[in-house]
Amino acid sequence: MADNSNLRIAVVGGGPGGYAAAFLAADLGMKVTLIDPEVNPGGVCLYRGCIPSKALLHVAKLIEESHQAKNWGIEFADPKIDLARLRSWKESVVKKLTGGLGQLSKQRSVKYVQGRASFENSNTLRVAKGNGGEESLSFDRIIIATGSRPAVVPSLKIDSPRMMDSTGALDLQDIPKSLLVVGGGYIGLELGSVYAALGTRVTVVEMLSGLLPGADRDLVLPLHKRLEKAFEGILLNTTVKSLKEEKNGIRATFEGKDVKEKEKVFDRALVSVGRKPNSEISGLDKTRVQVNQRGFIQVNNQLQTDDPSIFAIGDVVGEPMLAHKASHEGRTAVEVIAGHKYTFEPNAIPAVVFTDPEVAWAGLTETQAQAEGRQIKVAKFPWGASGRAVTIDRTEGMTKMLIDPETERVLGVGIVGPGAGELIAEGVLAIEMAALAGDLELTIHPHPTLSETVMEAAEVFYGTSTDVYRPKKA
Ligand SMILES: Cc1cc2nc3c(=O)[nH]c(=O)nc-3n(C[C@H](O)[C@H](O)[C@H](O)COP(=O)(O)OP(=O)(O)OC[C@H]3O[C@@H](n4cnc5c(N)ncnc54)[C@H](O)[C@@H]3O)c2cc1C
Repeated sequence: MADNSNLRIAVVGGGPGGYAAAFLAADLGMKVTLIDPEVNPGGVCLYRGCIPSKALLHVAKLIEESHQAKNWGIEFADPKIDLARLRSWKESVVKKLTGGLGQLSKQRSVKYVQGRASFENSNTLRVAKGNGGEESLSFDRIIIATGSRPAVVPSLKIDSPRMMDSTGALDLQDIPKSLLVVGGGYIGLELGSVYAALGTRVTVVEMLSGLLPGADRDLVLPLHKRLEKAFEGILLNTTVKSLKEEKNGIRATFEGKDVKEKEKVFDRALVSVGRKPNSEISGLDKTRVQVNQRGFIQVNNQLQTDDPSIFAIGDVVGEPMLAHKASHEGRTAVEVIAGHKYTFEPNAIPAVVFTDPEVAWAGLTETQAQAEGRQIKVAKFPWGASGRAVTIDRTEGMTKMLIDPETERVLGVGIVGPGAGELIAEGVLAIEMAALAGDLELTIHPHPTLSETVMEAAEVFYGTSTDVYRPKKA
């Protein structure tokens, strides 16, 4: 292994990209400084993203299942919600994980500086510390991992305590009677689901013709159907034109071809219309780093910017803005700095929407294949034919596989149903290992599990599934 002990590395931003990079760099023997405004590493994902939202979605699922239990002859009383305890449980989850990262950082002798960094030049950072002090530090290489923040729609920006972005929604200040969610992407649907389970009447407004734009429609349909029951309204092809604070709430006006009610008052409004990269770092113009028109820092497939001393990773370099993409990029950047032959060229980055049912996909999607005019075969296994799905009374799910008709290689996998977020990992592995549909068909899966649906989708491709019946063509 090369001697990296003289390499001084700074990582700016302690999210899943930044801390993964810092910890691996330390493990490879580099002298590492990690800079972030929070008391411990964690970034958006741990403090105000993936982790708190999943803790609350776990509670939401429990509440929903307690209602569904009626169908199975078990009746629970309506839940009593102690909001303060729920909030403090969620906060304890965040603290446990971020505190753990603080520990891991110390154990690795990573120098953790609580503060905000700006650039003096390509190799020197000025850090404004939480305690008011300032420090200039020089490095051989700097990795920018400053992440992203909620996008703001200027026309919907009003100064009102009733307005929330995703961070405010996760704070769970109260359980409003009614909530307007602007944006039908994954963050709006996940947080909307949490509030709906807690008893809020939720209305989601999406300007496009369907929820979760970008995902295949057949995967979204079962979710849409369930959310139609859980939410008060799902307004598609609708734009929120204005928001105005009134005595009793936020008055929203709507525009669009399907609009029936032109305005409505809500207790609170959550704007979740995407995220913006944090690339406006002070002094970045003193380096050779280039930022593109969408605000993402430009990097090559080794995460190198146009400045030889500076790398960038995670949300700040582009889509998909997901934690696992950030951490893999972080690892790649460090391996490259260490002189190893590494590039970031995944065949599949899984996407998971942690609603109920979950929606997950990896690799090629049908929407993408159609747009590219690419020939593919699609094999679908409906969960109505899955023993496990029937035992949990969730037969609306579906597992599908996109297969190259010539080579029979698995190009993409899509799953909708409870646990889809766990199941998709098998699809990712299949795609990365260049598996053929036949490999999945021949892999013995445990019974009765939802994982069998992946094998059965491959069987559907070959027409050998014994759990679904297709009459032979005459
Ligand atoms: C509500 C919500 C739910 C989400 N759920 C999921 C999910 O389930 N799965 C998933 O994969 N992704 C999820 N995401 C997205 C995920 O959080 C991000 O993709 C991920 O955090 C990006 O990691 P990162 O390392 O690029 O940056 P971030 O996690 O954004 O961290 C960047 C850090 O850099 C700090 N920083 C910024 N500027 C400076 C500076 N100048 N100096 C020092 N520090 C600075 C920031 O304060 C922050 O702490 C969710 C996001 C939200 C908002």
